[in-house]
Amino acid sequence: MANRHAPAASLLFLLSLTAGLAQTQAPLALRGTLVAPGQVLPDGVLVVSGNKIAAVSAAGAVTGSAPIETGSFIYPGLIDLHDHITWNVLPRWKPSQLFMNRYEWQQTAAYSVALDQPHYAVTSDHALACDADRFGEVKAIVGGATSVVGGLAPTSGSNDNACILGLTRNLDIDGGFDASALNKEKVWYVTFPFKMSLTATDEARSGLDSGAVTALLIHAGEGRPGDASAAREFAMLDKGGDGLLRAGVSVIHATAFNAADFQQMAKAQVGLIWSPRSNIELYGATTDVGSAKAAGVKIAIGPDWSPTGSDGMMEELKYAATWNADQEPPVFTSAELVGMATAVPAQLAAAGNEIGSLASGFYADLLLIRKTGTDPYQALLQAGPADVRLVMIGGKPVYGDADLMDRLLPQRTLEELTVCGVAKKLYLEPQTGIPETQKSFRQISSELEAALSSWGTSLAELAPCASGNLP
Ligand SMILES: [Zn+2]
Repeated sequence: MANRHAPAASLLFLLSLTAGLAQTQAPLALRGTLVAPGQVLPDGVLVVSGNKIAAVSAAGAVTGSAPIETGSFIYPGLIDLHDHITWNVLPRWKPSQLFMNRYEWQQTAAYSVALDQPHYAVTSDHALACDADRFGEVKAIVGGATSVVGGLAPTSGSNDNACILGLTRNLDIDGGFDASALNKEKVWYVTFPFKMSLTATDEARSGLDSGAVTALLIHAGEGRPGDASAAREFAMLDKGGDGLLRAGVSVIHATAFNAADFQQMAKAQVGLIWSPRSNIELYGATTDVGSAKAAGVKIAIGPDWSPTGSDGMMEELKYAATWNADQEPPVFTSAELVGMATAVPAQLAAAGNEIGSLASGFYADLLLIRKTGTDPYQALLQAGPADVRLVMIGGKPVYGDADLMDRLLPQRTLEELTVCGVAKKLYLEPQTGIPETQKSFRQISSELEAALSSWGTSLAELAPCASGNLP
């Protein structure tokens, strides 16, 4: 019986697969205000074909079937180059003191109990580790991101982290580009660069020179400005000119670095990834981005993690915009801040020709925000989670308002999700042969909630709905 039925089942599977492909490959036109490189098209149409953007134009230039009116500002999806995805299942951590540097808080009992122990417990269990990554990626998407780094790494060189596939791009693990392969990306993300073995350091350095490594994103100089141990990491990176200060490298944090350091970074074409909220919550101060910008360093923004940083890219942008408005004079324009979450991180991740811009030939990674006012840059900096109309990754709608999701994915079973009181829908595309990807978000959340409460903590919020998070 089983053998006789097998061909019919395969045929059915093939037919449904073909139908699925046809559905995603039909060109799709979205009408709204387009934030394109160097210009805003107030009444524009963006055409998606397959996983790429096929055209970006003024509405009058479009012929053919009527585009979908989105009532939105349409941006490139946000690119998060500084995160620790599995930690974002843990609630906010509010230590009772400020610290001098990261080595100080990492040694406290309070950190161990609130964060390190429950995180270790979650990630030591394969199913929960997958749940944590997928919860964290959904959280990133709800916060406007289409690409992240710092997701679930494989254990001991195996590919047992395949459960991360199907949500955001994981630029350092599997970017989801046409040439991507799991755990073989050329973007390296390093939390403890000074713990790298000599072999790994040599491999990174020669890889950058040969092109085997296209981007190296490393944490360094994380501490209060002037803190000696964090500041000396600049010399450790530089190694008298023979270290990791070279093109393709971006330093995460650099809070303890000074203007002279930034001038040297700019000269070496080293980028900076800025995480103001986490810095200010832990150290009471953040990176001297004014000096970094004046020196000509390319600066991207990232939330770090949600325990002391932001819940996602939109919230971190809002935090940065509020901080920026308090500076005399402000360091960045609103368009520059939006660029620090889109085109600049794409360049720092060596993907500046693939993502981060609304341009023909780029991957169709989109963020749509409900249209309020006329300035799309200001609108994104002020938007909250409820304002997200749609997140599309590689031409696939993943999350958004029910009307748009239902219209774009009429054949799919979508999961209802209430975010800050607003009804949204989510599509977690199941990956063939990876059972962890068949779980609903509700199931993932309840498994995490049960485990975390048994360890004396609770599951983090999915999105920041209350105000009062600003500096
Ligand atoms: Zn970090």
